[in-house]
Amino acid sequence: MSSTVVVAMDGPSGSGKSSTARGVASKLGLRFLDTGAQFRAMTQWMLAHGVDPSSPEAIAKHAGEPVIVSGTDPLAPTITVDGSDVSVAIRSAEVTANVSAVAAVPEVRTRILGLQREIIGEGGIVVEGRDIGSVVWPQAAVKVYLTADPEARAVRRTAENGGGSVEATQADLLRRDAIDSGRKAAPLTMPEGAIHIDTTPYTLDEVIDQVVALVLQTEPS
Ligand code: C5P
Repeated sequence: MSSTVVVAMDGPSGSGKSSTARGVASKLGLRFLDTGAQFRAMTQWMLAHGVDPSSPEAIAKHAGEPVIVSGTDPLAPTITVDGSDVSVAIRSAEVTANVSAVAAVPEVRTRILGLQREIIGEGGIVVEGRDIGSVVWPQAAVKVYLTADPEARAVRRTAENGGGSVEATQADLLRRDAIDSGRKAAPLTMPEGAIHIDTTPYTLDEVIDQVVALVLQTEPS
């Protein structure tokens, strides 16, 4: 495997991006970056510092302050803010409820875009998010756009969260989709040149194998 390949994996919440991206990265010996975790870390910092997440002006003013560091081992990805491990805190209901509003603020996106491009660097990485193939790294050798039926996404996400109401999870996924697709700055969209995979009928391993095959076709080892 070429160590410089960049695999851009985009799609809505619950489409299976994270698990697929991690699986592909570990099978191919590549690094892994969860960009949703970076936006969640920014949101967690705002909440912890009493910044009103519904005020784009307030968010913009502080967007340069948190020091967000992502570890890119697909078997043990890490994320810290100002030196503290926030991998659990960024999955809280409060962060999930506010992250799309924070991620829509242009100053937040510019700040995180800089971090993302620095990490991607020379490549050798699978990067998952909403705007990787369209904005962050449009030159990626492989671009994949994952989707799944809203019901399937809600069932998967509820299981990942350790249970709860599938209906409530689905409502939250659809609410975030609407904000993520409708925002002005880097909206969720299928990038030009991306291969669309509807993961609804497949198991995680099947989707991982499909993407691994695509990468090997594009970048023979
Ligand atoms: O992937 P995850 O659900 O953790 O992402 C959380 C939120 O971060 C998304 O709903 C979206 O608002 C934002 N996000 C983004 N651009 C990315 C990745 C995530 O705006 N590349």
